Amino acid sequence: MKKNIILMGPPGAGKGTLAKQLKEALNLVHISTGDMFREAIKAQTELGVLAASYINKGDLVPDDVTIGLVKERLSQKDCEAGFLLDGFPRTLAQAEALDEIAKSISRPIEAVINLDCDNEELVRRISGRRVCKDCGAPYHVVTMKPKVEGVCDLCGGPLFQRKDDNEEALKVRLEHYVSETKPLLDFYKKLGLLESFNSLVGKEELFDEVSSYLKK
Ligand code: AMP
Repeated sequence: MKKNIILMGPPGAGKGTLAKQLKEALNLVHISTGDMFREAIKAQTELGVLAASYINKGDLVPDDVTIGLVKERLSQKDCEAGFLLDGFPRTLAQAEALDEIAKSISRPIEAVINLDCDNEELVRRISGRRVCKDCGAPYHVVTMKPKVEGVCDLCGGPLFQRKDDNEEALKVRLEHYVSETKPLLDFYKKLGLLESFNSLVGKEELFDEVSSYLKK
């Protein structure tokens, strides 16, 4: 089984949802830089204040901050069982740093899963996305409604719309994806690690396809 995995794809492609399914099924540690930043923002730490000034506009948090955060997390013991990077790397500098980190802790990347999704669908998914404030579970106002409006099915927490899930910030996020993150697909293709999947098939089918691939 492939263990140390990167999930790639534009915002709204379904990385977070897939990561949660894979984490449960394959017993991997889920490392989402977006979640780590959101936790820091909630806790109002120095990192949180800095991260919010970028995230709310749709911009990327500077590489040195993001790389330091991931380096520290990947060095922790629980990552020995295998990890799932969700939302990292997003720039070439991050990908190169990850390569160094992975070598230094002897946990090489074994697969890069890319989720393909067209722009129209990304906008539809992001603009209707709601997230549980307490447990982070994702919902959609049309396609993935909770049983009770505004309340998480899993933990009863309140649902909210992320500050960066508005039209203006999304436009900036998509531009960063195209100019800085998409070129990484070539980087990983050259290393023979890249496998692409169509994320329009629906979350259960996508999960089946990706998990069978990782189990090979
Ligand atoms: P996500 O939850 O992955 O969509 O991330 C939300 C936001 O956090 C992004 O739009 C960025 O502002 C920031 N962020 C997350 N991961 C990274 C990263 N690897 N590099 C820079 N900024 C990041």
